[in-house]
Amino acid sequence: MTIRALIREGEMLLAQKQMLSPKLDSEYLLAEALHVPRLNLLLSPMDEVSEEAEKHYRSLLTRRANHEPLQYLLGTEDFFGLTFRVTPHVLIPRADTETLCEKALEVLPENGRVLDLCTGSGALATAIAHTRKDARVSASDLSTDALMIAQENAASNHVHVTFYQGDLFEPLAGLAFDVIVSNPPYISGKDMPLLQPEVKKEPEMALYGGEDGLDFYRRIVQEAPQHLSENGWLCLEIGDTQAPDVMALMAEDFEMIACFQDLSGRDRVVRGRRKK
Ligand code: GLN
Repeated sequence: MTIRALIREGEMLLAQKQMLSPKLDSEYLLAEALHVPRLNLLLSPMDEVSEEAEKHYRSLLTRRANHEPLQYLLGTEDFFGLTFRVTPHVLIPRADTETLCEKALEVLPENGRVLDLCTGSGALATAIAHTRKDARVSASDLSTDALMIAQENAASNHVHVTFYQGDLFEPLAGLAFDVIVSNPPYISGKDMPLLQPEVKKEPEMALYGGEDGLDFYRRIVQEAPQHLSENGWLCLEIGDTQAPDVMALMAEDFEMIACFQDLSGRDRVVRGRRKK
């Protein structure tokens, strides 16, 4: 079959399943099966596709129709202008999280030490290290599977990040940082069943933040001061209704507490400086 016919077939299949961008997804998946950039397909729509590539394409289409995220099928996602490998062991980096990256960079002193807690794919740690060559960046995660991906992503983007495995601050005893950044799991028990089918294919341990969604904030806010230098900053991604709760948690030990919005205007980041 031709490229054009296969894209049409995919588009119809995915449209039937109410996917949001059936044509674009089909183009990306066929490009993946053919190991060529998507734009190549559009330049030669009448080319015949080998049987082997056709089979591969159909298996990718079936998985997409079953709501596997496109990024897991392609194996990559872009964040902060860099490309990251993603697998079902890590949360897919979101454009929303670029706000967190910017707000951390704003307060990072020269030669500053940064910690990315719950690093997942390593996107935040890698983006910060890439933007600020003077920064000394560490990252931690509970998941060894995630850390393997994060290590690969730091290396493929040519930055140095020191990785630690363990539960939040547990592997970081005695270490202090100028900026701690974290996008912890923050979905509440009530919201977990309401997630899009695609998001439900992402690791639950990267999403579920306890019954009220605030478990990780309570622990991070309590333990962070011991791991922050004087004038050190804590920068947290939050769910769009969580700003008042997280700001209240921070009120005792932090000052200059502020909330920032993502590109769609939703509350997305809370940041504060450790009180002296
Ligand atoms: N932003 C993610 C979502 O919307 C949640 C990420 C998280 O829990 N840290 O599904």
